[in-house]
Amino acid sequence: MSHDGEAARLGEPAATELAERLARVRVEIEESCRDLGRDPNGVELIIVTKFHPAALVRELVALGERSFGESRHPESRDKAAALADVDGLTWHFVGQIQTKKARQIARYADCLHAIDRQELVDALRSIERTEPLDVFVQVNLTDDPARGGVAEGQLDALVEHVLETPTMRLRGLMAIAPLGAEPEAAFARVREASEHVQTIAPDASALSMGMSGDFRSALSQGATHLRIGAAITGKRPVAT
Ligand SMILES: *Cc1c(COP(=O)(O)O)cnc(C)c1O
Repeated sequence: MSHDGEAARLGEPAATELAERLARVRVEIEESCRDLGRDPNGVELIIVTKFHPAALVRELVALGERSFGESRHPESRDKAAALADVDGLTWHFVGQIQTKKARQIARYADCLHAIDRQELVDALRSIERTEPLDVFVQVNLTDDPARGGVAEGQLDALVEHVLETPTMRLRGLMAIAPLGAEPEAAFARVREASEHVQTIAPDASALSMGMSGDFRSALSQGATHLRIGAAITGKRPVAT
């Protein structure tokens, strides 16, 4: 029996648990920042709500949250539409992006985290927006291309391609720690890659890394955007 199920059986509102998990994660981020001598205001918490209903996002809005991450189109589109009445939300698309869906995703997403090939940049070259789309270039820390992300050897060329694309504003690099690897060492590689990228793109200093299981390691390596799901939302409903 899951903890949530038990709470429901006991008549305890699930919303209380959500608030508690959120508060716990926020405290852990603040404590980690303090230990590291970092300013917690320099860290953006993106709550990843994939597979969860729009109602859960609304509960998080009521708790003061404004930054959400999604990874599957059109689920993400429908959720953004369901919350269109709420001002000031930021939607981060953190998942891999199919070229043919890129333009549709750019209609509702404020920031794309997984730019990993020139073809995708080209697909977004002619989007119509009043402001450039914020993007992160994803670095692949494995040898498996299916994991998403650009190979480190092709990073410079992709960064230059993004910089030449007026519809995009490069915020920095994104990465996912490989399974079974030591996350801190993996994130240290991203930090080094970021230092190099900043020699050609001085404003692209943001680092989108760190999930429920490894955000402390990510913070120690300079993460500025944490993408945290399960530690806050609870277990994801099973995919259909
Ligand atoms: C699902 C997901 C997350 C959040 O993962 P949790 O382990 O639930 O915190 C972060 N980043 C990406 C790209 C994801 O797909």
